Amino acid sequence: MDKNQLINAINTAYEKFKDIHDGDNASYIPFLAQVPAELTGLCFVSVTGEVHTVGDTDYSFAIESISKVITLALALKQHGAKEVHDKIGADATGLPFNSVMALELHNDKPLSPLVNAGAMATTSLIKADGAEDRWQQILSMQSAMAGSQIMLSKDVNDSEQMTNTHNKAIALLLQSSGSMYSDPFQACDVYTRQCSTLYNCVELATTGACLANGGVNPVSGETILSADLVPRLLAEMMTEGLYERSGDWAFEVGLPGKSGVGGGLLAVIPNVGALAAFSPPLDVAGNSVRGQLMIKSVANDMNWNLFNSVAH
Ligand code: GLN
Repeated sequence: MDKNQLINAINTAYEKFKDIHDGDNASYIPFLAQVPAELTGLCFVSVTGEVHTVGDTDYSFAIESISKVITLALALKQHGAKEVHDKIGADATGLPFNSVMALELHNDKPLSPLVNAGAMATTSLIKADGAEDRWQQILSMQSAMAGSQIMLSKDVNDSEQMTNTHNKAIALLLQSSGSMYSDPFQACDVYTRQCSTLYNCVELATTGACLANGGVNPVSGETILSADLVPRLLAEMMTEGLYERSGDWAFEVGLPGKSGVGGGLLAVIPNVGALAAFSPPLDVAGNSVRGQLMIKSVANDMNWNLFNSVAH
């Protein structure tokens, strides 16, 4: 990897897209509606722990759906790939992340651990002795992957717990069809908490760099996940990481990604590192507009598309 080329690519992407004003903050979670829309950050962490940043990379934002990746890593570790695949799935729903119709269409099987239904089912799969134990295990996994102590935001969590009726309904539907593996309200509560933790771009990119580095955190040296499980997790990100725009993302960028309605976006480049972007305004599917543009720009400049090949 040419370091100067990378620094240039990151700075160029930031300068080019930081003043784009398309998209809107998430408004269905009141807290997220009032985060300053102009904030923009971009960070790369390599598999050797090198860090490059530009913009608002110290700002801590709500991780939201990107937490689904981390809880999935924990579930894969505890249950193995086959059980997670059998119980939850590995397919795109083609529908919004909180779709009830997606459940109706697939006999109430969530299909993907990266939509709300599958994510709550994944949270319920964590072997735990009650809500606090479930929560602490997930928080520890978030901290281990981020390489620093991750904290719950009381403000974000209060805002989400007061408005998550739709997710509670999904949790009950899962219970009624046998796809919920703990008390449904406990799963929804802990899922809501896992979405309400705060990350900056460096912590988010470090989380992704664990997945680029065979499951080992390149900053702390801690083994997070066995290397054979990493491709399974990245495959889930490729199929559903940007919801109903996942196919477009694969077509245009060719990297496993995951977005959150807090404005975070993560992309993993296996054996190289990870890019994390933050910018609150979202497209209609719930993916950061500037985040997608910046990561696409860096990935294209660096020739990081996973599907690239050369003639032999
Ligand atoms: N906490 C949010 C929800 O459950 C996360 C959604 C997202 O980031 N796409 O709706």
